[in-house]
Amino acid sequence: MSTPTLAGSTAEPWSVKTTGHSAATQDYIADVLASVRAKNPAEPEFLQAVVEVLDSISLVLERHPEYRSARIIERIVEPERLLMFRVPWVDDTGTPQINRGFRIEMNSAIGPYKGGFRFHPSVNLGILKFLAFEQVFKNSLTTLPMGGGKGGSDFDPKGKTDTEVMHFCQSFMSELFRHIGPDTDVPAGDIGVGGREIGYLFGQYKRLKNEFTGVLTGKGLNWGGSLIRPEATGYGAVYFAAEMLATRGQTLEGKTALVSGSGNVAQYTVEKLIDLGAKPLTLSDSSGYIFDEAGIDRRKLAFVMELKNKRRGRMAEYATQFPGSVYTPVDAAADVNPMWNHKADCAFPSATQNEINGKDAGNLLRNGVYVISEGANMPSTPDAIEQYIQQHILYGPAKAANAGGVAVSGLEMSQNSMRLSWTREEVDSRLHTIMKNIHAACIGAADRFGVPGNYLHGANIAGFLKVADAMMDQGIV
Ligand code: NDP
Repeated sequence: MSTPTLAGSTAEPWSVKTTGHSAATQDYIADVLASVRAKNPAEPEFLQAVVEVLDSISLVLERHPEYRSARIIERIVEPERLLMFRVPWVDDTGTPQINRGFRIEMNSAIGPYKGGFRFHPSVNLGILKFLAFEQVFKNSLTTLPMGGGKGGSDFDPKGKTDTEVMHFCQSFMSELFRHIGPDTDVPAGDIGVGGREIGYLFGQYKRLKNEFTGVLTGKGLNWGGSLIRPEATGYGAVYFAAEMLATRGQTLEGKTALVSGSGNVAQYTVEKLIDLGAKPLTLSDSSGYIFDEAGIDRRKLAFVMELKNKRRGRMAEYATQFPGSVYTPVDAAADVNPMWNHKADCAFPSATQNEINGKDAGNLLRNGVYVISEGANMPSTPDAIEQYIQQHILYGPAKAANAGGVAVSGLEMSQNSMRLSWTREEVDSRLHTIMKNIHAACIGAADRFGVPGNYLHGANIAGFLKVADAMMDQGIV
């Protein structure tokens, strides 16, 4: 199966395609990239993310030499601050365990650092740097005042008891509390960090600082959380797909969709697809995937939510519960993922980075998929993206399509600051408007810079311009 384990990406950073640009821009970008490669060895995901953004930004540099003079690019690829620390804790048998904790404070030009924590055994500096880098542009696209950051640990919550997870979270926060704050750095959840983990982290922060503030988002509803935050990333990815379809006069009604993952993003992607009359066909976890030709309906989704969020079980159980669906385990030796080889209209990759490779993309396109809205961060390899662009399908890149989660985190921060709570309808309507605005910003930037319909360039450029201008205003800091 082609899906890379989180432990090691199979992707090679691809080269910047500056064809058509002046020799000066090509040379400049090549120099910046060479320096990034030299300074960040063995961080393929970070390089992949930087190359993708620089490819788009080269279009901007042709018209705006001032960014080059101010060395904005060289500064934006360098984290403002990196924290790496020991996280010692004691498991249920009384044995000391040691994990590594990280926080990447990437860019604060337009607001406090903002971005989730990932707890997964594969977490390392390069993966978190790629995520923090992406977050800078994504947060800018939301139009809310949020800088970019990311953090986490190689701790694996799978198979741990609640007490062990609590001890780990308390130790993690015992170091981190001195570096974060509601006006400094506001973390949230990501892979392996849901409501349970945010609760334990918040509890320890409150205890150590003796203050009740909006230092984390994704909080419980009765202690400062926002309605619609759990739903926001999945709902947002579906709203983005609907906006893309609207450009062709179409809707999601009656469309079939392949969805990967079965965590937070995947679950609410499926829920919103059902709301809008589409038919989700697949879900997965790191052990395998289910294909349900009859479609995943509300009753089946409720089963998945109970399975994943409460019992913390495996997707294989779905096929036992719902005859007619088929479970296929991961084949680690295969170089394609059979989940991407079913006939469908849309795909919502919602598991992890580089989960769709070039061969998978070929299969998706051959099977009729013409809408791809990325719920996960960087789920498509460069090879795959190249094919989406060449085929002119509706491709919503992660930093635009999955920005709904951090957008509602921004709304949670606003509600915490005002000490009031908006209704479900109010937050959902704001989320919907933000996703429409992000879509319009991508289309607008792509048009202005001569690549109409290219959401990838559009998202990178629109996200970059706001941050770059703020950096210009604030001087060399
Ligand atoms: P969860 O931990 O809730 O769920 C992750 C899901 O993906 C699980 O089903 C997990 O399976 C599966 N998965 C992880 N790695 C692999 C793999 N290598 N192969 C197949 N399946 C895998 O995380 P989220 O839903 O929060 O995050 C999913 C993606 O969305 C990530 O890329 C994240 O960065 C991105 N994202 C999340 C946001 C949020 O608000 N939560 C916001 C924006 C982006 P298993 O249980 O077996 O590990």
